[in-house]
Amino acid sequence: MFTSISGRSVLVTGGTKGIGKGLAAGFAAEGAKVVITGRDAELGERTAAGLTAAGGTVWYAAGDVSDPASCAAVVAAARERHGGLDVLCCNAGIFPAAPLDEMTPAQLEDVLSVNLKGTIFMVQAALQALQESGHGRVIVTSSITGPVTGFTGWTAYGASKAGQLGFIRSAALELARSGITINAILPGNIATEGLDELGEDYLRSMEAAIPMRHLGSVADIANAALFFATDEAAYITGQTLVIDGGQIIPESLEAMG
Ligand code: NAP
Repeated sequence: MFTSISGRSVLVTGGTKGIGKGLAAGFAAEGAKVVITGRDAELGERTAAGLTAAGGTVWYAAGDVSDPASCAAVVAAARERHGGLDVLCCNAGIFPAAPLDEMTPAQLEDVLSVNLKGTIFMVQAALQALQESGHGRVIVTSSITGPVTGFTGWTAYGASKAGQLGFIRSAALELARSGITINAILPGNIATEGLDELGEDYLRSMEAAIPMRHLGSVADIANAALFFATDEAAYITGQTLVIDGGQIIPESLEAMG
């Protein structure tokens, strides 16, 4: 039914590992031409080579979303490589924890620069190309943390992820007449390299808090992104989709039964 992804040019920020790598793999499997970006060039080249070996068309361009010039360069690389840009996945993100009474201005700036400003810089950099596409799509990886839930130590992260939703709603209005849609996915706890770094205790406590009793997979996120990118989703913009195995539903642990 959803055939419109094949041949589309897709750019995934933070596509070198974790959810972004899963997004790249999902789009590549549907025949899209994908550029992934991230700061670690060695990892980026390795990821692109692996996804290409698996049958995809995936290319790595070095980039830092917190730098507007770097965002412009990555978009230019995708256009040159694949003849345009149809889908932008704003997925790059960092999630360092810092309690409020210890958080430094530099730590706050880092999180906002990558997660929030980085999303806005990328959309600005891609605007012209997405307009030229005629069916431009922006898919933002937000989170349940911030927009829906809270977590001690993640005030800056939660603010950045809620900020992304404030951004997409007004952006949706500005982009609507160009046929560009912008939507956000709110993952719960998804098994990734980044989450692994939070440790076994964190992972086990999350599994216990999820009604489905297991973490999500990167493919769970990619499947939703693929839908937002299709022609069939052309009338959906400024919206959010929670993908969390039911994690935000229970009022208490007892409520899970
Ligand atoms: P991850 O495994 O740590 O991967 C993060 C990716 O972002 C890497 O490719 C990283 O590459 C890239 N990145 C970080 N800073 C960057 C920058 N300044 N410019 C460009 N790329 C940058 O993280 P993940 O778990 O997949 O998370 C991906 C996104 O999903 C984030 O936005 C995160 O907030 C969101 N999310 C994740 C979960 C989860 O359970 N995993 C839940 C909710 C939301 P380099 O470090 O080489 O740049």
